[in-house]
Amino acid sequence: MDTFTFYNPTKLIFGKDQVTQLPSQLPEGTKKVLLVYGGGSIKKNGVYDQVVEQLNQAAVEILELSGVEPNPKLTTVKKGVEICKREGVDFLIAVGGGSVIDCTKTIATGAKYEGDPWDLVTRKEKPEDAIPFGTVLTLAATGSEMNAGSVITNWETNEKYGWGAPPYTNPLFSILDPQYTVSVPKDQTVYGIVDMMTHMLEQYFHNPTQSPVQDEMIEGVLRTVVNTAPKLLDNPESYEHRETILYSGTIALNGMLQMGYRGDWASHNIEHAVSAVYDIPHAGGLAILFPNWMKHNLDVNPDRFKQLAVKVFGVTTEGKSSREVGEEGIEALRTFWSSLGAPETLDYYGINDEKFDVITDRAMKRGPFGNFNQLESEDVVQILEMSK
Ligand code: NAP
Ligand code: FE
Repeated sequence: MDTFTFYNPTKLIFGKDQVTQLPSQLPEGTKKVLLVYGGGSIKKNGVYDQVVEQLNQAAVEILELSGVEPNPKLTTVKKGVEICKREGVDFLIAVGGGSVIDCTKTIATGAKYEGDPWDLVTRKEKPEDAIPFGTVLTLAATGSEMNAGSVITNWETNEKYGWGAPPYTNPLFSILDPQYTVSVPKDQTVYGIVDMMTHMLEQYFHNPTQSPVQDEMIEGVLRTVVNTAPKLLDNPESYEHRETILYSGTIALNGMLQMGYRGDWASHNIEHAVSAVYDIPHAGGLAILFPNWMKHNLDVNPDRFKQLAVKVFGVTTEGKSSREVGEEGIEALRTFWSSLGAPETLDYYGINDEKFDVITDRAMKRGPFGNFNQLESEDVVQILEMSK
């Protein structure tokens, strides 16, 4: 294992009707709350009404920032920062998926920073303060509800970066009610499953040292998601399956599985570059890119791919080399995601090789990347070519 420090200050409040805990979680003396949400799904499924009812019970003034887009934009962050500074907001509550939560994190820190919030996202400057915030999650996917990460897109420069500054970008609390995720449509349910699985896989492909405890935990959660996902898609209203998937998404990226592993994260970096140029769903991009990243890196450590194939996908080993077993595992992952309805090629989103140079340039902005295997620009081009 690598040396590590584990610190996660977010209070996780999980289960049916737990939104009723919201008033008691607000810091003492909270007066003005900015309610941040997306394009309106929370108004259709009744979550908005339930959250507002709880905020009213807490007798706080409510301001709103709606319209946070999937792949949240810097321009929306700036709108939120402006409201916070102008109105003296003292708490933020994000109600939605990863995009709403990520946007809220950068608003919370941007509101206590004098310059352009993009300085924080690009890590030119570090935040030294933030408005505290909580979340009510409505979509199982990113783990943003219990980590410090925030991914923001700047459409003026076609750049999309993940950043984070614990403890300022960690939610104070997150309320997760599986009932709130029942209305998530099929495509977003699948994207969420692909995203959480990719988070676990990115951590699994850690080099060179391994930890049996982390391996077993990651393999166990991955197997659970692989077993549950088809059942959930057959029965999208199942509380039990929504609960399993919601919990898996949080565990996947709240630091529990990452202890002692830095993970790889190259596929996330390439995906961010793709969706900074083409506004595609994050996990749609990952479903296409990750299996090709695996093929590209199979020979770095075939035994690692073999272990995944055997432990998660039940691939048999008799008479086969590690490489062959590993290859079968990659195919099993690809086939599994396809069976759920996830895309396999960039062509699905109408993307061809026309802007591969721009995507590669964006992916390389912070220099060579990836910990399992460090990628240079020619590797990125090869992975993109395999993904066409
Ligand atoms: P999302 O972009 O937050 O939401 C996707 C869509 O799902 C939106 O149209 C949203 O509609 C809808 N939706 C959400 N909850 C719903 C519900 N209960 N019922 C019906 N529709 C619902 O999706 P996400 O996958 O959670 O977040 C993606 C973003 O997170 C990307 O920008 C990605 O790069 C980033 N990300 C962050 C991390 C991290 O650790 N911070 C990790 C991975 C990815 P409304 O807008 O109408 O609500
Ligand atoms: Fe992700």
